[in-house]
Amino acid sequence: MSSMGDRSVLSGWAATWSVDSADKSTRKMFDLGARLRRESTAPIYDLSLGNPHLEPPPLWRPELIRMLETEPAGQHRYMPNAGFPHVREFVAAREGQRFGLPVTADDVVMTVGAAGAMAIAFRSVLDAGDEVVVPAPYFPEYQHYCRVVDAKLVAVATHRDFSLDVAALERALGPRTRMVILNSPNNPTGALYPKTDLVALADALRRASVSRDRVLYVLEDSPYRDLVYDGTMASSILPHYDDAIHISSHSKDLGLAGERIGFALVSPRSRGRALLQRALAFANRVLGFVSAPALMQRVLPLVLGRPGGRVDAGIYGANAAAFVPELRALGFEVVEPRGGLFLFPRVPEAWIRHFGDRAGDAVVERLAERRTLVVPGSAFGAPEYVRIALCVESQEIEGALSAFRAVCGEGAGGGTG
Ligand code: PLP
Repeated sequence: MSSMGDRSVLSGWAATWSVDSADKSTRKMFDLGARLRRESTAPIYDLSLGNPHLEPPPLWRPELIRMLETEPAGQHRYMPNAGFPHVREFVAAREGQRFGLPVTADDVVMTVGAAGAMAIAFRSVLDAGDEVVVPAPYFPEYQHYCRVVDAKLVAVATHRDFSLDVAALERALGPRTRMVILNSPNNPTGALYPKTDLVALADALRRASVSRDRVLYVLEDSPYRDLVYDGTMASSILPHYDDAIHISSHSKDLGLAGERIGFALVSPRSRGRALLQRALAFANRVLGFVSAPALMQRVLPLVLGRPGGRVDAGIYGANAAAFVPELRALGFEVVEPRGGLFLFPRVPEAWIRHFGDRAGDAVVERLAERRTLVVPGSAFGAPEYVRIALCVESQEIEGALSAFRAVCGEGAGGGTG
């Protein structure tokens, strides 16, 4: 964490940038991919990035074009910082139904993706020195979001099947804890937190809140919530815990990662609800977003909830299903992902015995020699694992699996690694 008065990116953490394994790994895979492409035109199987490969749903483009061709004047100007009122009403009605809560348009702030929503939520509620508890493995960007506001990320291991360890989370709640982040379905593990665990966590948070004068928030970061493979709805903590902010985006369910559209929603039962609503809208303004992209806001009510108004999440599930038995047969320990864009297998025991904390990295390096790119688990604080992105075509899966078979066939002592 940078010190107070030392908050710029340049002075605050450029000096420690290189020790951030997540940056290093992701960057490394990116550079490696570029080098391999330069060196040869042979196929590369790049399963490193969670960049949705599915096109936006069929309905999206014609609706967007029709909207542009028929719009009245004045649709591309400044708007309230929280977003167009009619879009916020639409989102509030949908989300209210989802959570069974009386959500109003005032509770909704349209944002520049889930990342923009995280930025304004962090800026709104965290003070320097506050602690943010997160189940691990977790999305490494949380580290950076914390640094921006001088907060400290406290990682709490999940169980071996990546389910929440509620008792451990409760033990991690200290006097400086201001926020708990939940990300379900999870990046990188694909875990989906069931209602029973969320209810238990809510009880733990209430117990921890008894003697505190500051609110303990849950920040639900849910960009994958509509990518549950069996089509069921991801459970949320909002019906069970009042001081919560829910975040989502349409980067994944509409395949619009580059268009930057999402939202933050204040639970209508949260303490200081009106102040929180204003804080989020104000942070949207002063962090320089000003408001979320107008076109992308306006198209949402025309697409969401309609037949053909969402990408087919089953494709990601099918991709996961293609990997799981093959990897298990090679000795990987695989917890089947329930949703989202990733698979997070533990490498075979022989590799862990041979390479220890470098086991995931070693598998990644050997795969790269065979033009197959995945991210080492060390980027997520889990060095015995690798992360495989599922947003790829089936021929890439086949190519990647051949590389996995060859690498495992050579064994931990083989190859050049
Ligand atoms: N949160 C998690 C867990 C993510 O994996 C991502 C993107 O990969 C984001 C937030 C940011 O999503 P967005 O593109 O909507 O900003």
